[in-house]
Amino acid sequence: MSDYKCPHCHAHLNVCDSIVFAAERPNGDKGLILIHPELGNYNADHHEDFMPKTGEKLEFYCPVCHKSLTSSKANDLAQIQMVDDKGTIFEIHFSQTKGEKSTYKIEGESVEMFGDDSPKYLNYFNLSQMK
Ligand SMILES: [Zn+2]
Repeated sequence: MSDYKCPHCHAHLNVCDSIVFAAERPNGDKGLILIHPELGNYNADHHEDFMPKTGEKLEFYCPVCHKSLTSSKANDLAQIQMVDDKGTIFEIHFSQTKGEKSTYKIEGESVEMFGDDSPKYLNYFNLSQMK
């Protein structure tokens, strides 16, 4: 199974079967979001009092060092590192908008896309698409 890490402090973000994020809603509410570690699986868990609405743009933070995870490619995306079981490091970018299914896995010049909404941000990645 792959590991997920903060690109700033390199802390492991995955615990058990989730990737753990701190997140802030546009209204300033803050909470933790647990996201399924399989790319393209958008199952997420959070506290019942921290319920982002579909279409809300969140800001994701590392729960360890509290730095913003907003992507270097686009403000609408978050960015983390993935390390597969062979030790290969990938950049993972995904939409910070609740309900938007777009995830990008990048290694060098190649991008692999996941989710129905993934074409939306593809132009931010000046890369060839993996077939
Ligand atoms: Zn961190």
